[in-house]
Amino acid sequence: MDHFVFHNPTKLIFGKGQLASLRTEVPAYGNKVLLVYGGGSIKRSGLYDQVTAILREIGAEVTELAGVEPNPRLSTVHRGVELCKSNGIELVLAVGGGSVLDCAKAIAVGAKYDGDMWDFAERKAVPKAALPLGTVLTMAATGSEMNGNSVISNETTKEKLGWGSKLAYPAFSILDPQFTASLPKEQTVYGMVDIMSHVFEHYFHPTPNTPLQDEFCEALLRTVIETAPKLAADLENYDLRETILLCGTMALNGVLNMGLSGDWATHNIEHAVSAVYDIPHGGGLAILFPNWMKYNLKQDIARFKRLATHVFHVDPTGKSDEAVALEGIEALRSFWNSIGAPSRLADYSIDDSQLEVMAEKAVRFGSFGNFAVLDKQDVLEIYRMSL
Ligand code: NAP
Ligand code: FE
Repeated sequence: MDHFVFHNPTKLIFGKGQLASLRTEVPAYGNKVLLVYGGGSIKRSGLYDQVTAILREIGAEVTELAGVEPNPRLSTVHRGVELCKSNGIELVLAVGGGSVLDCAKAIAVGAKYDGDMWDFAERKAVPKAALPLGTVLTMAATGSEMNGNSVISNETTKEKLGWGSKLAYPAFSILDPQFTASLPKEQTVYGMVDIMSHVFEHYFHPTPNTPLQDEFCEALLRTVIETAPKLAADLENYDLRETILLCGTMALNGVLNMGLSGDWATHNIEHAVSAVYDIPHGGGLAILFPNWMKYNLKQDIARFKRLATHVFHVDPTGKSDEAVALEGIEALRSFWNSIGAPSRLADYSIDDSQLEVMAEKAVRFGSFGNFAVLDKQDVLEIYRMSL
């Protein structure tokens, strides 16, 4: 293992009825609240009414930023920063999925910065201060509720960049599985693909002696694989929503990568696709991850074999290690297809016309990946395999 410090400052408030804790959490940070939400799902589900009723009851002064897009845009971040600065906002409260949370994180750091928040995404500056952020999550997927990461799309330059800061961890996050029950099947599936992908990004690492971390990853993958088909067929089942919600948080809150650095190449390759085509993140990952795996199989066949046998229960008897490893990757592809995830870029009508443009975006900061270091030619090959 590598040496490490684990410090996750987010207070996680999980379970049915826990929205009530807004009454005590919000006043701990201030009275002037920027309420950030998406395109209307929280109004349809009734969550908006519940949140605003509590905010009224505690006498909070609320400014609203509505309409955060899936794949949140820099222009929306700018609007939020302006609202914070002109209204003396003391707490940013995000209510929604990962996009709303990521946008709120960018607003929270942008509000305490004189320049353009995009400087942080471009690695031109590092956040030195941030407004406190609270979240109420409505979708299991990104883990944004308990990490310091955020992904923002610059619609002018057609770039989608991830950035992170210790200052961007939510101070508190409220997760009530009931609020995820209204999520349609397609988004539910994308969320579960994203969760599994976060585990894969940790699981494929080059660090020796990580037996507990590897077992944690495998347990999380098996739990999602066991739960996902049931949930896809029974979207309002509370217990299944609860299980997946916790999986989403645990997949990307720093617990799985104690003492190791994961790979993260596939996320980078996917961000370049959704920067150009604005496709759902989980859909892009479902297409790309099995191809990243096949492309990098030779890097560590034993690890792919272990995934096949420990997670997909492939019987290795009488087969070569490589054959077992490949069967595991095929099992992943079939599993994702079986719950309704796409498998080819063509499923989003993406052809080969922009592959160069996307590959160029993926290598914007140079070669990348930890388990396998990829350059532009490698990325192009993975895109071609995914057409
Ligand atoms: P999302 O983009 O936040 O939401 C997708 C859609 O689901 C939206 O249309 C939203 O509608 C709807 N929705 C959310 N909750 C709902 C509910 N309970 N009922 C009905 N509809 C609901 O999805 P996401 O997968 O959570 O976030 C994706 C973004 O996060 C991408 O930009 C991705 O790159 C990024 N990401 C971040 C991290 C991280 O660590 N921060 C990690 C991976 C990916 P409304 O807009 O109407 O609410
Ligand atoms: Fe992701």
